Amino acid sequence: MLTFDAVVIGSGPSGGMAAYEMAKAGLKVAILEKETLPRYKTCGGGLVFRGRAMLPFDLHEAIEKEYSLIHIYFKHLENPFVSKRDFPIISMVMRDKLDQLICGEAIKSGATLLENQALQKIDFQDEILLHTGSQTLRTRYVVAADGALGPTAKLAGWKETRKLIPALEYETEVHAQDFERLSKEARFDIDAIPHGYAWCFPKAKHLSIGVATFKKERINLRDHYQQYIKKLGIQQIVSEQAHGFQIPVGFRTEKLANRNTFLTGDAAGLADPLTAEGITNGIHSGILAGKAISQHFDNPQKAESTYLSSLEERILPELRFNGMLSGFFYSYGKIRNYLVNKEGQKFCEVLTDLFTGKINLNEELKLKAIRKMGLGKLMKF
Ligand SMILES: Cc1cc2nc3c(=O)[nH]c(=O)nc-3n(C[C@H](O)[C@H](O)[C@H](O)COP(=O)(O)OP(=O)(O)OC[C@H]3O[C@@H](n4cnc5c(N)ncnc54)[C@H](O)[C@@H]3O)c2cc1C
Repeated sequence: MLTFDAVVIGSGPSGGMAAYEMAKAGLKVAILEKETLPRYKTCGGGLVFRGRAMLPFDLHEAIEKEYSLIHIYFKHLENPFVSKRDFPIISMVMRDKLDQLICGEAIKSGATLLENQALQKIDFQDEILLHTGSQTLRTRYVVAADGALGPTAKLAGWKETRKLIPALEYETEVHAQDFERLSKEARFDIDAIPHGYAWCFPKAKHLSIGVATFKKERINLRDHYQQYIKKLGIQQIVSEQAHGFQIPVGFRTEKLANRNTFLTGDAAGLADPLTAEGITNGIHSGILAGKAISQHFDNPQKAESTYLSSLEERILPELRFNGMLSGFFYSYGKIRNYLVNKEGQKFCEVLTDLFTGKINLNEELKLKAIRKMGLGKLMKF
């Protein structure tokens, strides 16, 4: 039986980075992946600067386009709000390449990739036994990084408490004139779909176009995609491939590490409830889980508490806050539009600062709370 210090289930950004951290620290690590890499992953492939900056290696091979401007359109306004920075706010990737690149770095650091093998069952004994259809692996730690629909959390005893929203992504090839026109910007169209937004993210030779709604309701995503294609003024589609998937925009209510099993990324439910952006928190939580396990390998309780408290430093408070904001933003369109008419550019700048990581929302919230309590002067800010 193959034996490892840690087995990571899933080779997305969460899994790749958890494996990278642990392998770099000298642990014997495997990544168990049900597909064969490189594999397609349904995703807009918009990697925001905050996530990109967390990756400690060169990403050039995986980046198809970069945008230092973002365009945010609101349905009720003719012109978009535009934010500009002097570095790429958003980098466009195809996830097969990005995920393979990250896993490649984990492998270079010593991790083993076991492809084409799906986790099917877990037995918790003195150590953990992981059963795939063809073999059993023995391990001390498990990192669940198997995405929105992976089985690890359920097999390990977690209930389903995430909020999952439906999203539809098309990889769309259009004629040269339309491609040239639309690839000038990375655009978000708020309200292009009820309670949600549409996006058009240009890749090297095609457009990733998608729609997501943040309210759980029956909705025909295909119709909204078709309407969005018209709005974009696309004359003719050369080819298109549709991919539907779920995005977990509300994290699990039970603690995210238990019985030597650590939930990361979409398996934990860490995509952002305002933007549905999940690569960054996937990378970040993978790093945190990998570090906690490596640093406290001989003390699983300490490893778990370290992971849980590191998630509370930034990721979870931000998700809680953005969860509340999202409820307002997508459900109270009239009041929101009134505010957008007055302060839309400011909103766009704040969103950009969140994408780039300039604003640490948790720190901002703490500071505001301290100021509110009248302690600002005392604490010198
Ligand atoms: C339509 C759509 C558009 C999106 N656009 C963006 C965007 O533009 N920017 C952004 O930041 N985020 C976006 N997201 C969210 C983003 O894709 C996810 O948040 C991110 O992929 C989470 O990474 P992960 O590593 O946690 O999981 P994943 O990337 O989902 O990786 C999970 C891996 O686990 C494997 N796996 C599953 N089950 C098993 C099993 N039983 N055994 C072994 N392996 C298994 C899968 O094959 C997969 O490789 C989008 C999501 C959707 C659905």
